[in-house]
Amino acid sequence: MKKILEVNHISKNFHSLKEETIALEDIHFSVSLGEFISIVGPSGCGKSTILSILCGLLKPSCGNTVLLNHYKIAYMPQEDSLLPFRTVLENCLLGLEIEHQLTEENKKYVIYLLETYGLGDFMNQYPNQLSGGMKQRCALIRTLALKPDILLLDEAMSSLDYQSRLLIGEDIYQIIKKEKKTAIMVTHDIGEAISMSDRVIVLTKRPSVVKKIYEIKFEEKKGPIENRKDKNFSFYFDQIWRDLDVKNE
Ligand code: ADP
Repeated sequence: MKKILEVNHISKNFHSLKEETIALEDIHFSVSLGEFISIVGPSGCGKSTILSILCGLLKPSCGNTVLLNHYKIAYMPQEDSLLPFRTVLENCLLGLEIEHQLTEENKKYVIYLLETYGLGDFMNQYPNQLSGGMKQRCALIRTLALKPDILLLDEAMSSLDYQSRLLIGEDIYQIIKKEKKTAIMVTHDIGEAISMSDRVIVLTKRPSVVKKIYEIKFEEKKGPIENRKDKNFSFYFDQIWRDLDVKNE
């Protein structure tokens, strides 16, 4: 598969007047076009820091990240962070406005996405009129509006209850696959990571290094909900549970 992104031995230290926090130490992996990658690890190990480095919000203390062939990266934050005083359509156009790319063509693309993914009738409504799942879909479309090649998803479903997580996870996965995007998702949910991903990167606690990278293979790759029923699912779950040593955290 064609390589799209390289993360080359990055480390990250945070400094305050009192102390130094070594968050990441020598994180190294690459991502191929069309892959869905999840990063799991104990809370506070530096998962979000990796995404912040990838989208340029933070600089690594050492190492670098290389986005090949001018591919474009976009970040979908933890909360849906929709603006309550803008309609669904206006929210989805916000990124384009900020980037001075609000052309007729780009607006048409956003309307196409809203219509294709069940928000056509809600375009002129406000976020408080949407269900949790619709808000999440709207946030995803706002990110897709910028036509990124790689989507960074930071605990995108963490605020939802278990059942909604499953349904919205399925929804987000199907949209990402249909739009042929590459995704890097940070999650603390092992099942979510296994069921959605081609590879799962497991980090240790701080200072964080890559403990293992699992290539997820199922009898037949379907959507995340169906993948959970695959006989290999519990094998990966047990392995990663052990890697994370959750009870000793
Ligand atoms: P995770 O996403 O795995 O929960 P984070 O990437 O949010 O972890 O944080 C990793 C570590 O770095 C934590 O100990 C956190 O307190 C620290 N950290 C993150 N951002 C900053 C910052 N801007 N300044 C100081 N420390 C930070």
